[in-house]
Amino acid sequence: MKNVYLDNNATTRVAPEVLEAMLPYFTEDYGNPSSVHKLGRTARRAVDNARAQVAALVNCDPPEVIFTSGGSEAINTAIKGIMTAAREPERHCITTKVEHSAVINCCRYLEGIGHDVAWLDVDAEGMLTPDAVEAAITGKTAMISVMYANNETGVILPIREIGEIASRRGIPFLCDSVQAAGKIPVSFKDLPVDFLTVSGHKFHAPKGMGALIVRKGIDLAPLIHGGSQEKRRRGGTENVPGIVGFGAACEIARKKLESESSRIRTLRERFEQRIMQLVPDVKLNGHPEKRLPNTSNLSFIGANAELLLTELDRAGVSVSAGSACTSGNRTISHVLGAMGLDDTTARSAIRFSFGRENTDADIDYVLELLPEMIDKLRRKKKIKPCITVTTGSNSVFD
Ligand code: PLP
Repeated sequence: MKNVYLDNNATTRVAPEVLEAMLPYFTEDYGNPSSVHKLGRTARRAVDNARAQVAALVNCDPPEVIFTSGGSEAINTAIKGIMTAAREPERHCITTKVEHSAVINCCRYLEGIGHDVAWLDVDAEGMLTPDAVEAAITGKTAMISVMYANNETGVILPIREIGEIASRRGIPFLCDSVQAAGKIPVSFKDLPVDFLTVSGHKFHAPKGMGALIVRKGIDLAPLIHGGSQEKRRRGGTENVPGIVGFGAACEIARKKLESESSRIRTLRERFEQRIMQLVPDVKLNGHPEKRLPNTSNLSFIGANAELLLTELDRAGVSVSAGSACTSGNRTISHVLGAMGLDDTTARSAIRFSFGRENTDADIDYVLELLPEMIDKLRRKKKIKPCITVTTGSNSVFD
């Protein structure tokens, strides 16, 4: 059976070159970068080299890179670092209803300890207006956190405009760019952003490796207190093999960015055009143009997406669905809920996220399977209503 992986926004396979770069740091080059002997110095050089590779991908200065255990830690470091250092009465944070659960649950934690959070709405295409951000600013606003690109729909938010507002008002701005970095050009130097997040496993690095990029001159308390690693901004002995792999993946992503993003966009476009021709009642969820080149979130109205996911899985195709049945509760994704999708549309949503390993043959295979599967499901099942979640943390996608 053919296997087609179309869940690249959830995670990706470690690239062979990345694994190869990592291996020596598990075996012969196992030194601690803080040690002064030869093994330690070798590890230090490897970490420094990876820092430069990460910096090159997002166009920042290497000292602005703090290695973390991934996107979630980077987000927690920035949000908790700023908000817990905010002096009374600056206990107000602005974010959106469509952020990843790392941001949402960080902000919910803040609410629990007495901070105020403004949860901004998006429109039916998942878009946020910079005016809405400006209108939410109060004299107490200590930070703004808005994602670069949404993990479920791929919608690219107006980060530059929001950053300009934040910078004009002197408010620190975190941009969660986990889904953008490695897929589209992201330039920290050219964006009015104070903090940026990167996660390696979204572009063929190992899981559990990422970075928080912090604008030079900003003093941020560490989330993890410990030794003097990362210039005292993140304690703990560095994960040298992981850092080396992350750096290598950044370098490959940077070199392939232009060619791969246009190749993947072409694949995605062909897929969407054909599926719309072959299947009636398909709705694209998200902005038609302002979208990551690899993401296609489609509702096959009337077909249960959970069942479709299972059918596709049986045929060797991996995708994500816009709803899930957890602990007896039926929930739809908080992102689709915030976009105002009705229950039936949300419950028939599938996210296809394409990647570097996908080919034309993969698309053909899925196009061959889908029409019949959808037709069968539409005839078979009436979708049961489910609980709609708007600012919830129960994201069904990563
Ligand atoms: N932010 C976004 C937009 C994501 O899609 C993800 C992961 O799915 C994260 C943050 C969290 O990153 P990590 O898995 O590295 O913790």
